[in-house]
Amino acid sequence: MSGTTDMILVNKDGKRIDGRTPDEHRDIKIEAGVLANADGSAYVEIGKNKVLAAVYGPRECHPRHLQDPTKAIIQCKYNMQTYSVSDRKRPGTDRRSVEISKITAEALEKVVLTELYPRASIDVYIEILQANAGTRCAGLTAASVALADAGIPMRDIVPAIAAGKADGYVLLDLNKEEDNFGQADVPMAIVPSTNEIVLLQMDGNMTREEFDKAIEMGVRGCHDVYKLQKEALLNRYSDGGDSDE
Ligand code: UDP
Repeated sequence: MSGTTDMILVNKDGKRIDGRTPDEHRDIKIEAGVLANADGSAYVEIGKNKVLAAVYGPRECHPRHLQDPTKAIIQCKYNMQTYSVSDRKRPGTDRRSVEISKITAEALEKVVLTELYPRASIDVYIEILQANAGTRCAGLTAASVALADAGIPMRDIVPAIAAGKADGYVLLDLNKEEDNFGQADVPMAIVPSTNEIVLLQMDGNMTREEFDKAIEMGVRGCHDVYKLQKEALLNRYSDGGDSDE
């Protein structure tokens, strides 16, 4: 997020470098139930991002001192594969992955009926196979489909997308160039049935008016993602529920 570049990110016709209009998201593909050995799973592509999510549980929480006698805890692990980015990513946990794991679990806790499973753990693994900006949103989108695929009771599914600002324009779903050279990135996630925002972060600067516009664009984008999440789950079960076998 440098905020400056000689590159034209939005041309005079209002088109972005990948041909999108400011309020258009990248192509999105969502598939539920892609792994045979997880309780639930999903695969998501958003533009050039490729993300897998797998869910185990609810199962007895280990280590035991983490158990909550009133509800299940959600333990999330976001991991960016070494080969997912152009400069080799050092394997293992870093501050960024700890932060993204935490905000993802917190967003999911808003919809999962954790009170049904005291002392249990619901484990969510997110693997970024290919990254091109927006991986936390793609990861959360995949994780909530994987939870639903695991049959875990939820109030709703959580869709996520980022809005932001580049070349002075408020844009939906920034790609890597827009994220690198733009002025702001605002990832968000909502509970579609209520429009409650369950994840909201901001990197960079924008005016209050631009921020309001970014939220409006992002919420609309989340509803588009939501439609595709539901379609993925419907396809999974209309296929007979064993597409991973
Ligand atoms: N990125 C990278 N190496 C890293 C972390 C990030 O190349 O160690 C790239 C990757 O393409 C990622 C983008 O920078 O999608 C933006 O990262 P950010 O931290 O803003 O999170 P994201 O937008 O992926 O949620």
